[in-house]
Parts: sequence; C-alpha cells; structure tokens
Amino acid sequence: MQKIQQVYIDGAFVNPHGTEIFELISPVTNEKTGEVVLGDEADVALAVAAAKRALPLFSKTTKEERIQYLHQLQAAVNARKEELVQVMVEEYGGTLQFSRMSVQNGIDAFSNMIETLQHFEFEKTVGKSKVRLESLGIAGIITPWNASNSFICNKLAAAVAAGCTTVIKPSEMSARQTQLLAECLHKAGLPNGVINIVNGLGNVVGNAITTHKDVAKISFTGSTAVGKSIAKGAVDTMKRVTLELGGKSPNIILDDAELPAAIMQAVFGVGMNSGQACIAPTRLLVPASKLDEVNALAKAAAAQVKVGLPNNAETNIGPLVSEKQYDRVQGYIKLGKDEGAILLAGGEGKPAGLEKGNFVKLTIFTNVRNDMRIAQEEIFGPVLSIIPYKDEADAIAIANDTTYGLAAYISSGDVKHAERVAAQINAGRVCINQFVHDPQAPFGGFKQSGIGREYGVYGLEAYLEPKAILQ
Ligand code: NAD
Repeated sequence: MQKIQQVYIDGAFVNPHGTEIFELISPVTNEKTGEVVLGDEADVALAVAAAKRALPLFSKTTKEERIQYLHQLQAAVNARKEELVQVMVEEYGGTLQFSRMSVQNGIDAFSNMIETLQHFEFEKTVGKSKVRLESLGIAGIITPWNASNSFICNKLAAAVAAGCTTVIKPSEMSARQTQLLAECLHKAGLPNGVINIVNGLGNVVGNAITTHKDVAKISFTGSTAVGKSIAKGAVDTMKRVTLELGGKSPNIILDDAELPAAIMQAVFGVGMNSGQACIAPTRLLVPASKLDEVNALAKAAAAQVKVGLPNNAETNIGPLVSEKQYDRVQGYIKLGKDEGAILLAGGEGKPAGLEKGNFVKLTIFTNVRNDMRIAQEEIFGPVLSIIPYKDEADAIAIANDTTYGLAAYISSGDVKHAERVAAQINAGRVCINQFVHDPQAPFGGFKQSGIGREYGVYGLEAYLEPKAILQ
C-alpha cells in the first residue's frame, strides 16, 4: 500500500500542514490501495509564496531558456513513461490503450509547446506601437482525474513557455499518479518555486488557489458546475481564467456517409477513456430514414467492444474511476428507460465476471429525443444516444440544441459537404470523418463548455498579458 505523505513546494518534497487523510481505492477491486495526506490553505500559502519568489527571474527568461526548460521537462517525464502508464492503469483504471496514449500526449505537450514557441514573437508592432506579451504571473492549475498527468503536463508546458510560475492542484483521486509525475518534474531541475504541487480537496486547496490575491490566473479542467464556482471565486481578484469544462458532443452522420465505418467509429468512440471523456461523441445524429440500418450496425458494433480489466491490451472499456461515478452512470441508464428511449445494447448492472469493480456495460439507447435528459446532460460513462433527424437543417438544429459546445463530429462522403455543415455547428472543435487531435489547433468550448482555449498559440497567449508601449 502506497502512502503519499508529502507535497512539492519550492523545489522540495515536504510534509504538508494539512493532516486529513484520503483513501485511494482500486476501481477494479474497490479495495484500498493507498492513502494521501491532503494539504490545506496553509500549504497553498507556502506554495504561492514560493511561486512569487521565483517569478521575477523566471518571467524574464528568454525564449531560448524556456525552450531548454521544456526539453528538460520532456526528458524527465519520458524517462519514466512505462511507470506513468502503469500507475494510471492501476490507480485510475485507465485501459492500457488509453493510458499509453494519454501519457504520450503529456510527454508530447512539451515538444508541441517548443514548436509553438519557436514561431512565437513576444514583441510585435501593432499600429504605431510596440506590443510586448508579458508573463501573467503565478498560474493556478486545477485538474480532474480522467487524464490527470496529461492535463498537468499540457498546462505546465504553456505556463513555462510564457514565463509563469505555477501552483498545481490535481484531483485527490490521482495522488499516486501525481507523486510519480512530481518526481519527474523535480528531476527536470527547473529553478525552485517554478513548479509547486499541493494535493488536496477542491473546496479547500482548489478554493484557496482560486481566491489567493497573488495568483494571476486559473487554468482549470473539470466539470461545468465547478468551473462556474471557480469563475465566481476568481473574479474578486480579477484573475484570468481558462476553463475546459463538460460536453455533450454531437456526431452527425450525413446522408452521404459510408454507414458501416461511421457507425463502428461512433460506437467505439463513445467508449473512449471508458466513457469518461469530455469530448466523447455521446449524441449520434442519424437520418430517420436509415434508423433501422443504423440500429443493426450499432448493435453489431457494440458486440465487438470489449469491457474488461484495464491492464489487458485488448480491453476497450475499463472500470469507471469510483463507485460514485458507477452509481451516477447507472442512474442515467435507468433514467433513459424511464424517459422512453429504447435500449439497444447494454443496460443496468455489471458485465458477467466483473462484479467487484466499477465496470459498466457499453449502453446504447435509440429513438432518443434531444430533449430527454440523457441527451442533454453529461453522463461521463459509455452511454450512447441515437437521435434520428428529418433533414440536414434538423440535424444542425439538434446538434446545436445543447448548453454545451466542446466538440462535434461529422461523417460524410464529401468533405466539402461536411465543411459546410461544420460552419454551422457551435463547437470549439469539429472533426470530419475521423476522430483526430491536432496539438497546434485551439482546444476549448463554446457556451457552457468553457472559456478560452488551450494548445498552440492560443494556449500560450492565455498565459500572457499584452502591454502596449506608445511613443
Ligand atoms: P470536478 O469538476 O469535480 O473536479 C475537477 C478538479 O477541480 C479537481 O481537482 C477538484 O478537486 C477541483 N475542485 C472541486 N471543487 C473545487 C472548488 N470549489 N474550487 C476549486 N477547485 C475545485 O471534475 P472531475 O469529476 O474531477 O472530472 C470530470 C469532469 O471534468 C467532467 O464533467 C468532464 O466533462 C470534465 N472534463 C473536461 C475536460 C475538458 O477539457 N473540457 C476534460 C476532461 C474532463
């Protein structure tokens, strides 16, 4: 059993002031695998003070020095790649397939930001003036449990590129993953105080970072509800906020799409990260005239999705992170039936042989109406809603009839056709015909999916403050 007893402040692992203990529970067995001592407001105060001491020098580093630091960070994380994958599988229950990709994304975040930096000018001429893009100051970084280390690496890379110092609060449920990453980041050898990591609860440590007068910015990934409370808490000190929140992304199958491939992709897609993905394509919009064909294809595809132990390389869907998350998803599956949707695959309960952990069946509802709660609310589990549409205008209206706007997916035999539809969708990212990632393209949400963007130039600028010098 692993006991995590220290937080990382001012370049050293130290005992926290906080004394509360949080138990770490295996999602596969629901048995205790470790515990973490949680930090508190006093630990945040020390972390912010360290970040404040480091800021004057770090914010004045050159582009070349920052690129060098990013190389060091990448090398240090890369050196323990396999361990990072293993602890993600064990602690979080991430499938081997997903955990490998997620850890690689974290490592790549540093080289992607190096590439962005290489083409970025911190001083420009605008009108008759010189505009300098200066470091915002101390960045508070608050992350969720569903790809913990990858989120931290991505936000940290942008902060370092901008010359910001950081105070990081990961999910308390990711403490073992955090500990290993902290050891890597320490090894990277950045100046003391540039990186500080405080384990703790959201309403304690997260809230203390959000309201601290010396923190200039919050970069948060998590639920829309918490994102709203952070935005409210941050406004008193006029912090800049980047909020990456929830989603209920539409996957529009246009009339001219090749159905078998598109439906196969749709069904496997909803199981990405065991359904715990903010960008998951959870609403499948199909022509009403093809609903029977879609249902048959979706049912056949579901039979090919393997729910199982996360450390098995064949597994597509592992356990959900916690019993709480399991109960939440079960509640939505029951709700779908109560709302009158037709259950096409899966349903309530655990798959045979997996009764100990938080495993759910890949569940597909069809004949879903977009005003049902299962089509409007983020479930955060592998539950797909098939929604028939009358014509293309109806498809676009349904796609946009949501409070969210993080991602959207379109399948069509004609890319130009898909692009015309993409232009009418209110979402931060629209993927055509395949589920791809572009680390230089902006990522973030319209509407209640968030504020601001991450990745590439947009992500870097979110840590900078423009200063115009007029002569
Ligand atoms: P969460 O919002 O409950 O928690 C996220 C983080 O915020 C955790 O570290 C938590 O401790 C902290 N927190 C909680 N209350 C806080 C408060 N009052 N002040 C400051 N910090 C606080 O989310 P979760 O359950 O860990 O993760 C799942 C959610 O994250 C889903 O809704 C999902 O859509 C969202 N998510 C979004 C993205 C994206 O990029 N848009 C990516 C992944 C997950």
